[in-house]
Amino acid sequence: MVFDIDMIKKVYAALPGKVEATRQLLGRPLTLAEKILYAHLYAPTTTPFERGKSYVEFAPDRVAMQDATAQMALLQFMTAGRNKVAVPSTVHCDHLIQAKVGATQDLAAAVDTNKEVYDFLSSISDKYGIGFWKPGAGIIHQVVLENYAFPGGMMIGTDSHTPNAGGLGMVAIGVGGADAVDVMAGLPWELKMPKLIGVKLTGKMSGWTSAKDVILKVAGILTVKGGTGAIVEYFGEGADSLSATGKGTICNMGAEIGATCSLFAYDSKMADYLKVTSRAEVAALADGVKEHLRPDAEVYAEPAKYYDQVIEINLDELEPHVNGPFTPDLAWPISKFAQAIKENNWPEKLEVALIGSCTNSSYEDISRSASLAKQAIDKQLDMKSEFTITPGSELVRYTIERDGLLSTFDQVGGVVLANACGPCIGQWARHIDDPNRKNSIITSFNRNFAKRNDGLASTHAFVASPEIVTALAIAGDLTFNPLTDTLKNKNGEDVKLDEPTGFELPVKGFAVDDAGYQAPAEDGSKVQVIVSPTSDRLQLLEAFPAWEGTDLKGLKLLIKAKGKCTTDHISMAGPWLKYRGHLDNISNNMLIGAVNAFNDKTDTVKNSLTGEYGAVPATMRAYKAAGLGAVVVGDENYGEGSSREHAAMEPRHLGVRAILVKSFARIHETNLKKQGMLGLTFANKEDYDKIQEDDSIDIVGLTTFAPGKPLSVVLHHKDGSTDEFAVNHTYNEQQIEWFKAGGALNVIRAEAAK
Ligand code: SF4
Repeated sequence: MVFDIDMIKKVYAALPGKVEATRQLLGRPLTLAEKILYAHLYAPTTTPFERGKSYVEFAPDRVAMQDATAQMALLQFMTAGRNKVAVPSTVHCDHLIQAKVGATQDLAAAVDTNKEVYDFLSSISDKYGIGFWKPGAGIIHQVVLENYAFPGGMMIGTDSHTPNAGGLGMVAIGVGGADAVDVMAGLPWELKMPKLIGVKLTGKMSGWTSAKDVILKVAGILTVKGGTGAIVEYFGEGADSLSATGKGTICNMGAEIGATCSLFAYDSKMADYLKVTSRAEVAALADGVKEHLRPDAEVYAEPAKYYDQVIEINLDELEPHVNGPFTPDLAWPISKFAQAIKENNWPEKLEVALIGSCTNSSYEDISRSASLAKQAIDKQLDMKSEFTITPGSELVRYTIERDGLLSTFDQVGGVVLANACGPCIGQWARHIDDPNRKNSIITSFNRNFAKRNDGLASTHAFVASPEIVTALAIAGDLTFNPLTDTLKNKNGEDVKLDEPTGFELPVKGFAVDDAGYQAPAEDGSKVQVIVSPTSDRLQLLEAFPAWEGTDLKGLKLLIKAKGKCTTDHISMAGPWLKYRGHLDNISNNMLIGAVNAFNDKTDTVKNSLTGEYGAVPATMRAYKAAGLGAVVVGDENYGEGSSREHAAMEPRHLGVRAILVKSFARIHETNLKKQGMLGLTFANKEDYDKIQEDDSIDIVGLTTFAPGKPLSVVLHHKDGSTDEFAVNHTYNEQQIEWFKAGGALNVIRAEAAK
């Protein structure tokens, strides 16, 4: 048993009392999110929290980390002065495996290439009591769903798709590594009380429609920003009709609308999934408190009274969707997709179709896709585009191999990739004749920003359910609508694909030979953490300096970024993943994807000391060498995307003092605060236009830095004129302490030493 049953028993034993106390406190019926959140307060409260306003301290039950983010999180944890993690925690080796040939060779190559990182993660996990999932064991969110997620629990994970565990009724939130360090050190974890969006699902899906289409539709309604600062809670008879893994898919992609997390109520589908994944004991315990694992009945009756926003979707009428390209909220019902392709002149030819990943590799997904591959064989159809399958875990892979599904894919030319992120995160050595040629791919993954999958700006990436991806792979053409159109088979006959069929759960149960789990040492005190001093991939951390106690004067403008600036633009993934444990080396990718508002170029900014244009990291290193700090200016939703704290640590390491933007993505804003950076927003968004390329910048008001009190920015322009305006911040008392100490870790270490 890899999960901690005693911890779950403790949570459930306390749940009824905590829920009743919350009902009394709020004086009304409760949503499910409220029950779970208030049951996980770090300390009891006598006053209700205000949604969207109050900062709240929580005590999550678990922490999960993937190998790219775990390196920096655990390097930080090492400096926090603790002997063992305070809550059950796990590390998952999934992000560093490059897809090139196929599962076996790619895994072997990754184990070789990443040996020093895996040795570090394995040894540090062993030392500090952390469960370690080896390369090949699977993708973090699938492994968490199969082993650790439980209804009514709360977890954080150092990956933006951590909310996947909402499929089993868990409040599961993606955070930066610094937050994971807090929780592993036994400290409270802070979050602004989320707003609540209710999504009522009526009816029942059938035919080609799948759970993926629910979230693709929701993304179209709410857009990439619509869920920001909110928990999305699904309810209604339609919600209860979805499989637990289908619920997981929906919660997973809640990250694409910026939601804090998404959540489904405990039901028989969740119980079935817990039982089939060797957790009957958890299901029995959950049954014992089941009324506390669902919203109160009054919430169902009058949802608008209890949620800040309510959306209704009728599953009877829901069409399969295809979203993209370049953004996951550009939603097309399949009946309108062909027209959209033609009108926008997107490449019709489908070159590669990819199914699986943490988002969609459940037994249900794979068996439904395999039913289409089987039809292709039976109906004498060729698979026209390249087709890859990424199982989410070894448990899934072993089971689908046993049940002959992988062999069906093999017969149509499908390539099974390692149980890892691979093409989903740019770890894909794609074979393409001309990398500049406009081309289309489609995935059943979650994210489709430019360059996300293969690093190529020319690739138009679309997202759909595994069933639709498979059908389009057979057609090789994005204008094909499998619900209405026919295909010519090898005999020249017109044939139509039947609706996909599959199994929610394996009839013979799941099986696995070696799941790839390594339990930590009982006593880790003698275990040595392996870090080579000559490594270019791992570097022990030094503390950041404390604030100097004065206003910041004479800062340089490093870059005024224009338009979308995601964490991929700030700290690119792909080839840079390899330096995730080496702060100085990875800092050479800082902001190289951001577009300079003054020349529309990436990675080309003016060095105001020399007047010459150069790369962003090199320019910042020149300022640092001259003893100068700098400011980065950005647009709306700066830092959206992933939870990587490197996007905050790199500017901090190279001497950037403040990030000043029109608005922030939540996780990134928190990460900046943790690293002792200033994250500021324009009080008046038009002031963004006042920033000029050669400005010298002062930040004023820091000696009286206080919650809710704006600071001032003074711009000294080249012509001698100045502009002054107010900037807002969301720092509370504790976060201001972090800023003053030079970072949250400096505060933790000082407390541990007391
Ligand atoms: Fe891996 Fe992609 Fe899932 Fe992230 S979204 S955990 S990169 S498979």
